[in-house]
Amino acid sequence: MKQLRPLVAGNWKMNGLQASWDEAERLAGFLSEHASLAADVMLCPPSTLISQFATGLSDSSLLVGGQDCHPEVSGAHTGDIAAEMLADAGATAVIVGHSERRTDHGETSELVRAKAAAAHWAGLMAIICVGETETERKSGETLNIVSTQLAGSLPDGATAANTVIAYEPVWAIGTGLTPTPDDVAEIHAHIRSELNGKLGEEGAQMRILYGGSVKPGNAAELMGVANVNGALVGGASLKADDFWGIASVYLPG
Ligand code: PEP
Repeated sequence: MKQLRPLVAGNWKMNGLQASWDEAERLAGFLSEHASLAADVMLCPPSTLISQFATGLSDSSLLVGGQDCHPEVSGAHTGDIAAEMLADAGATAVIVGHSERRTDHGETSELVRAKAAAAHWAGLMAIICVGETETERKSGETLNIVSTQLAGSLPDGATAANTVIAYEPVWAIGTGLTPTPDDVAEIHAHIRSELNGKLGEEGAQMRILYGGSVKPGNAAELMGVANVNGALVGGASLKADDFWGIASVYLPG
């Protein structure tokens, strides 16, 4: 099977001011010193910083993404941001369906699917998040939940180029807890099989990221699991040194 190029994406959530550019610049410095890194690396800062980062990184391989978008192209939606606006600001991707959006804003998979479709329409890659809560895990529902979210959130026209799946167990986000490598292997294999069934070769080539308390100390083990094609990183992406400690597991040799 063709080796998929991994993606290591950093989700800054509601963190970061203009002065945080220093961290992005430092990360870009690591990337330019290590051009052999066998992975794409992306920062998803808050929307207020996308234009600044994208402009500053125009000569860098460090990619810039958004954290959410509205399903509609434009209109009377105070405070929301359209996918086209993210693209206009210099983003090439957007996270949709993060568990914090599903929980804090009651986002359903149907809405996530519409957001992913809007991202594609605007030329953005959609990073679609799925994952079970602690209660769902304890009641043995993990695979069902992941299947249901995946089926509900994947828009028509999803391809390996325009879509990435991020498996993020909700109980592992920001807690320091992680599933065992065996658990990650089982769930990622399940997602791969669902993608293959739905999308054929495009599903076989689609990247599946693991997210939830990835740190420099556990990245090599988690990224070494079959069907893990990179990471979605929250807290440890805020500092360039930590984030590089994760991304650098993809240095050759
Ligand atoms: C996330 O919010 O996507 C995430 C994975 O957070 P953390 O790495 O902090 O667990």
